[in-house]
Amino acid sequence: MRISDKQLEQVNSRIEALVKAGSFYGKKLEEAGIKGVNSAEDFEKLPFSEKNDLREAYPLGLMTAPEEEIVRIHSSSGTTGLPVIIPYTAKDVDDWAIQFKRCYEMAGITNMDRIHITPGYGLWTAGIGFQLGAEKLGAMCIPMGPGNTDKQLQFMMDMKSTVLCATSSYALLLAEEIEKRGIKDKICLKKGVIGSERWGDKMRERIHNELGIELFDIYGLTEIYGPGIGINCPGEKYMHYWDDYIYLEIIDPVTLKPLPDGEWGEIVITTLVKEGAPLIRYRTHDLSRIIPEPCKCGSKFPRIDVIKGRTDDMMKIKGVNVFPAQIEEILKEFHECSSEYQIRISHLDGRDTMRIYVETSGEYDFNELGERIAAAVKSRIGFTPIVKVVEIGLLPRSEKKSKRVIDERFD
Ligand code: ZN
Repeated sequence: MRISDKQLEQVNSRIEALVKAGSFYGKKLEEAGIKGVNSAEDFEKLPFSEKNDLREAYPLGLMTAPEEEIVRIHSSSGTTGLPVIIPYTAKDVDDWAIQFKRCYEMAGITNMDRIHITPGYGLWTAGIGFQLGAEKLGAMCIPMGPGNTDKQLQFMMDMKSTVLCATSSYALLLAEEIEKRGIKDKICLKKGVIGSERWGDKMRERIHNELGIELFDIYGLTEIYGPGIGINCPGEKYMHYWDDYIYLEIIDPVTLKPLPDGEWGEIVITTLVKEGAPLIRYRTHDLSRIIPEPCKCGSKFPRIDVIKGRTDDMMKIKGVNVFPAQIEEILKEFHECSSEYQIRISHLDGRDTMRIYVETSGEYDFNELGERIAAAVKSRIGFTPIVKVVEIGLLPRSEKKSKRVIDERFD
């Protein structure tokens, strides 16, 4: 998915604005003597931007449009240090609403839907983004915000909400509460738009089963508008994203080189038309890949895979980038194995190796099972791990996911 001429033109206009405003990135470009880009090769030489750059610009160092054009700010709450402040022009706010409206439309939501919004309103981009898009669509918003489950359920029943917008954990909590109170027949929900955290297939299945609704994954981050820059289409798990607003690259987080379509790596985003705080090659640290095949739904918007984790979880084994969620996904397909496993990464004879420990019962041939798992990893990820199959009950039980991956390379 190389950058198009139109996108290059848009990038040049953003570069001009950034240099003119003298923002951190504008200065970076000036120091590097970059005035514009004429080709994909030029573009790939542009410096990256990082969350730390954005923090250092606190409070308003990112502001790229004149003050009189800025209509609001949003902020991403950092757990450490300064927050990031993103200024928006009226056009940015409108562009965000258009993208969010597209998300709803992609999910088959119309102006006849009643959209129940539970993410928080305020400095962060969640609730207000869901609201903007729904109003743009012409649907009826029910701006609940988070908490107060009694009131949520009362409104859900009385207002006959048809769409639930929530984090996956809150959707699950509501689903369980509906089940517990035996009020499922009074709930009119048909769809759920779930955002702002990573969630596994198991959680998805539970919410889907308990509420009987179709679920959609919405993607976005405060630094780039907010939620609403991408969503999956019905029946597919991959997410379409709006390449007329953002240019998305997948890079190798170690070498920082762009990867071919289909390969897993870090999502890097360039905003193409943002005015208040344009970002060039912003490193999200989210792991995904571009899906090269066109989508069955007919949409021409490109797609990425479900976000699989953070680049911090990534390991490089025999020259191949790999992260625990990929191994987990493969192991789940082997019904012969229990749900327990352990991954050990070690450094032997100058190279990294991975050992995967799984459990099974005595009815299976341990060697044969191990070989099949190793072959599955080889064909799907590209390297052969050492697989050790042990008797059920031998692996340590732990609630903590982190205990299942042991990196012995730095011991
Ligand atoms: Zn599609």
